[in-house]
Amino acid sequence: MSSDKKDQTEMKNPVTQYPQPPFKRQPQDAPGSVNRMNPLPDHGEETYKGSGRLKGRKALITGGDSGIGRAVAIAFAREGADVAINYLPSEEGDAQEVIKLIEAAGQIAVALAGDISSEDFCAQLVKNAAKQLGGLDILVNNAGKQTAQESIADISTEQFDATFKTNVYALFWICKAALPHLGDGATIINTSSIQATQPSPNLLDYASTKAAIYAFTQSLAQQVAEKGIRVNAVAPGPYWTPLQPSGGQPQDAIEEFGKSTPLGRPGQPAEIAPLYVFLASQESSYSTGSLFGSTGGLLLS
Ligand code: NAD
Ligand code: MG
Repeated sequence: MSSDKKDQTEMKNPVTQYPQPPFKRQPQDAPGSVNRMNPLPDHGEETYKGSGRLKGRKALITGGDSGIGRAVAIAFAREGADVAINYLPSEEGDAQEVIKLIEAAGQIAVALAGDISSEDFCAQLVKNAAKQLGGLDILVNNAGKQTAQESIADISTEQFDATFKTNVYALFWICKAALPHLGDGATIINTSSIQATQPSPNLLDYASTKAAIYAFTQSLAQQVAEKGIRVNAVAPGPYWTPLQPSGGQPQDAIEEFGKSTPLGRPGQPAEIAPLYVFLASQESSYSTGSLFGSTGGLLLS
């Protein structure tokens, strides 16, 4: 980061800080790419300044190639963590940009492509991450699949299954494989959604998975508290990421994306990364089993 750039702590009006709707229609195929978005999202590339809050930690982030996961990877690296990212093989281009950013922060970067809807792959992913990082202290279950459908009649069993496999089964498989590697002070952060508590009619399968992630987080947190491991969930509101224009929302909703929030615009991934840093770091030592919102003012319950 050049020294004349302001960092993430600069005081600003959040309403006008970032682009506001209307946006152009911009369909792309799932899982989508950051570089096909207009305007380009902000992942904190130019602004995130670390202060050693995760020094020496080793983190695995699923969906770390783009969107929220990319911003978290950048922030973790600048806070002093070595970072492994997982993503789909078709996202290699986005992933390599993140690998370069982690390395530019002076940290070890590990790229682990593969589909987390496979139990075998999830076990391999955790094993390889722990091996290549030399341990594991932070697990961020962030990958997700979202496909809007007007009616339950339009949701195929295949879609329902793929959404649950990616968003819920993978969380179970990855946590199960990761726990033997996690020691005192380790943290798990699961990306849930405002959809967990405020489900939209056209996100029936997705919203159900996000509610499951919230319950899973609360249950696991109680189970592993005595081991000194904390588990929390983050509930983003509308964030400007490839998930949304690549089938997560109908294109007419992309034009107005974020407009219905009190802040009147979507969040940018850079705006949520500090929350993940807080939950990963020792600073949040008394927080476990909780859901932390970043919703532009939409109510979580
Ligand atoms: P994103 O598209 O940038 O990230 C999602 C990532 O999930 C993809 O990059 C992809 O690597 C990964 N993924 C999907 N299917 C996979 C599979 N089978 N195997 C491996 N990886 C797979 O979008 P994002 O919005 O940053 O999404 C991150 C998380 O945030 C998701 O869990 C999403 O549900 C959640 N979320 C997003 C919003 C929003 O408005 N963008 C709101 C609430 C919650
Ligand atoms: Mg992606």
